[in-house]
Order: sequence, then C-alpha cells, then structure tokens
Amino acid sequence: MRLVVGAKSDIGRQREGNEDAFLAEDSLFAVADGMGGHLAGDVASTTAVEVISAKAREVQGPGQIGDLVRAANEAIYTKAQDDPTLRGMGTTCTVLMVDGQKARIAHVGDSRAYMLSDGRLKQLTEDHTLVSRMVSEGRLRPEEAAHHPQRSIITRALGVEADVEVDLSSVDVAAGDRLLLCSDGLSSMVNEAAIGEVLKTERDPQRAADRLVEIANEAGGDDNITVVVVDVSNGESSQREGARSSPRERTDPAGRAKPAHATAWRRKVLIAVAIVSVLVAGTYAVLLYVVNNSWFVGASDEGIVTIYQGIPEEVPGLSLKRERERTDLRVAELPTFLHDDVEAGIKFDSLTAAERAVADLEQRAMDFREESAGGGGKG
Ligand code: MN
Repeated sequence: MRLVVGAKSDIGRQREGNEDAFLAEDSLFAVADGMGGHLAGDVASTTAVEVISAKAREVQGPGQIGDLVRAANEAIYTKAQDDPTLRGMGTTCTVLMVDGQKARIAHVGDSRAYMLSDGRLKQLTEDHTLVSRMVSEGRLRPEEAAHHPQRSIITRALGVEADVEVDLSSVDVAAGDRLLLCSDGLSSMVNEAAIGEVLKTERDPQRAADRLVEIANEAGGDDNITVVVVDVSNGESSQREGARSSPRERTDPAGRAKPAHATAWRRKVLIAVAIVSVLVAGTYAVLLYVVNNSWFVGASDEGIVTIYQGIPEEVPGLSLKRERERTDLRVAELPTFLHDDVEAGIKFDSLTAAERAVADLEQRAMDFREESAGGGGKG
C-alpha cells in the first residue's frame, strides 16, 4: 500500500494559541488536542506526538499502538507532576497506523478518526465526552449532543492520571480509501455531511486538508483546527508522499506564540476559571481533573454540613461530586446568613482548606448557639 498524506493545523479564529499537534510520518499518524492553558496544553499535545514518534521507532511492529499512547500518557503525567505550572494539563490523542491492509487506531478523548470508503463516511472512534456518554445511556438525543453547551467536556485524556484506558480498534483498508484524523475544532464546527463532501470532492489530500480547515474557519473557527488526510493507494512503497511534517513543524507557526511566564499562581486562576467555564461555556477541560482537584463544603440532602470532592455545579443527570467527610454539624445550627452559601457549596482547592473551613463553621455554630442561649448578651 502506498500512502499519500495532507495535513494542516490552524489556530482558528478565536484562540490565542494553537494547542493542537499532529504527527504524520511513514505509516504513523496522530492528532492531539491539548488543554490546560496556553503553555500547558501545548506541552501536553506536543509531548504526546513526540513520544509516540520516538517510541514507534523503538518498538516496531503491529499491536504496539496502544503502548505508544500509554507511553505518551506516562510522559505527560510525569511532566505535570514535576512542574506545578503544568499541573492539570492533558491532551486528547487519536493515533492511526496503517499496516498492510489494516488500519489500527488507538484513541483517547474527542479527536476523531473517520474513513471514507466507497463514498461513505464512517466515524471510527467514539468520543470520550460527557455528552456521548449521556447519548449512549439514552439520556440525550444524538441531535441534541451536537449543540450541547457541555459537548467539549471530555471524560478521558492523556496526562491526567498515571494510567489511561486506550480504545483500540482496527479496520480493513483498500486502495481508494481515505482516512481522516481531526481535532474537535473541525468536528464541532461543521457537520459530518460537510466533512464528507470535502473528502469526496477534493482529490488531492493536502487540498482536502486545507479545505477542511477553511470550512471550520468559515463556520466560526471557535477552536484550533487540525486535520490529517491519508489516502491509501496501490503501490509497492510503504513510504508516504505529500506533505512532510514533524511535530515541531506546524503549518501555522504564528499560532504558537505563547507567554513563557505562566506562574503557579496564574495557573491556579486558570484552573478556577476552567472549573466554572466547563459548565457554563463548555470550555475545554478535563472533567476528571477538575473533579479530583476540587473540594467544597456543602449540605447533604439531610442538611448535614459535608465536605465533598468535586464541584457543586450540576450537569443534568450526572454527579460531579463525591462525599469525603460528613461532619456532625447541621446547616440549621449555623447563623442564618451562612445557609445560602453552604447550600450552594463553598469551594476550596484542597481538602485541608475545606477542613479548616469546617472548623471555622463549627466555631461559628458554637458562638451562634451561645448567643441564642444567652439572649444576645455577648455583645
Ligand atoms: Mn479542541
């Protein structure tokens, strides 16, 4: 099989930097869509494609594609643990390896792989998103998912935890088939019919890639857009032709401008903003990260002051919190002016801070009890 490739990564029209990265070398292709603020998201996606590229040269042969992705996960996770300014970074990763008549896919997140075969476009990956889970559980209709405000919340990403579950699949390919990898900057801006139309009409893979980026930008370009188009044709050589690109060479170098001075403090602010905007505006973020790194003091259904891990905001049908410590304190025992705050949930960035707040609430409850008993004689 001979592979002819076109690829393009573009900043889009709304973002200040490009946090996507891609890989297209020999028979190995990948798209990674990083998140976690300017610097961190870029580090995550770039690390993913660099590790996959390096590792692939080490371990040749089929069946290893999942290992490549797991190696990338470990590398990103380690970087994030070692550098506080990179905490919380993560990336999607969709990898395609064409191996004879098989296309193997390893996938985490909501970047996608498609195949156009006999004029039919088929999605080869399943998004790891909140809305796709809700669709599969029958809680959301597929047509609602495409425009759901929380559609970009992903439930799985590289770099967030020490281990990651990687979806593996394979599909037979023949001459004439065309494969596409893309970040959600394409798939969330234009529908599948529009993507299929471009893939069917633009014969040259690089022109197809350019055109796909163009239609995503025409639709608003809300996010970074990255596409890799791979044509399978008859031929002896397994060497691909067409655009040669390494993870370091992106089509839009201007999209890589970024501040190098992100401090830990600034990161914290970004995370706090992300926690809110995840639910409000659907900003890209890793749900698991947010849930694992946030605490709040709230009220249980029984009115007991309780420390939760997670966030008090609610996505219909899904709980983003778990109980960590139930206190002996009832909300009703607190001064009235505090009831609303506790019911709504008071957020902290560590368990210790939440515990301190509970100690403070207990003190306030005690003072309040004394004041009430003493008829306000304390003042
Ligand atoms: Mn994206």
